[in-house]
Amino acid sequence: MSRLLEVKNLKTSFSTYAGDVQAVRGVSFHLDKGEALGIVGESGCGKSVTMMSIMRLLSDNGKLIDGEINFDGNMISNYSERQMESVRGNDIGMIFQDPMTSLNPVFTVGDQLIEPLMKHRKIGKKEALEEAIKILELVGIPSPRKRIKQYPHEFSGGMRQRVMIAMSLICEPKLIIADEPTTALDVTIQAQILDLMKNLKDKLNTSIILITHDLGVVADICSRINVMYGGIIVETGTTRDIFYKGRHPYTWGLLNSVPNPKKKNKEKLQPIDGQPPDLLKPPVGCPFTSRCKYSMKVCLEKQPPLFELSEGHRCACWLCHPDAPQVDSPIRRGRDGE
Ligand code: SF4
Repeated sequence: MSRLLEVKNLKTSFSTYAGDVQAVRGVSFHLDKGEALGIVGESGCGKSVTMMSIMRLLSDNGKLIDGEINFDGNMISNYSERQMESVRGNDIGMIFQDPMTSLNPVFTVGDQLIEPLMKHRKIGKKEALEEAIKILELVGIPSPRKRIKQYPHEFSGGMRQRVMIAMSLICEPKLIIADEPTTALDVTIQAQILDLMKNLKDKLNTSIILITHDLGVVADICSRINVMYGGIIVETGTTRDIFYKGRHPYTWGLLNSVPNPKKKNKEKLQPIDGQPPDLLKPPVGCPFTSRCKYSMKVCLEKQPPLFELSEGHRCACWLCHPDAPQVDSPIRRGRDGE
């Protein structure tokens, strides 16, 4: 597979009255063509800011401090705002958590689909209408010819999210970034939307970055996962590496807070106690220290590098140092359905 996106040493901060919040502190990762990558972590870990930095959609007080973003062979981190406008929507589509904030309530769904089609593909209104109907059909909207004339409020939450997905696909982007696309939906609709995304990815060979706080959501779609904490990537690997051979205590915490639907007996989920670090003054050492029961002296003094555990599986924890004490993974047995 060839490379679609390469991010190197991305750093983003936000100026506030209290000082600069260092939201992303040197993040590097890649995505291949046709691949789905999950970015997982709790609120404030930097996962959405990383994506907004790539799309150059930061709020006015946000600033890309450092880093390189290469997209499909072009160094888009050097692009002007005008060049980025053509990348957004044309080459990279986005799906947000709440479709109502992205859909305009005063225009019909059809108007909102047709306009970008006419603009980006330079086609007439009639052709754009037929294309839009086809896309609504593709994302599973029943009676698309009739529903294309309706307004967003006439759609249910799940159907609105399907419209949002249709909008992100409209210009056949090479990459779709989905930021918590199912968080606002109930569980059955969540499963339908995730199935839809998976089918579309397989059918259209579009690359996907799926941002979520829920490891369970990425399991079926993504082949690789980046776990983020405190503005950095603390573990990266294949979905199998993370689920079965996860080595970072934060990954263990996340895994132990995912319900296992295959377990017959109800199991108690274990929350991760404590609070994330204050990124106004990020810790010198490991950002997970204050919540980690394995914390050692070195953890307070030095940020651990990403230790290579196997090809593509890396973990930023001093426990992965060859001289560190051996600690057994506390991940509950039976994630595979025992
Ligand atoms: Fe815990 Fe230390 Fe590993 Fe950080 S580096 S996760 S504090 S053991």
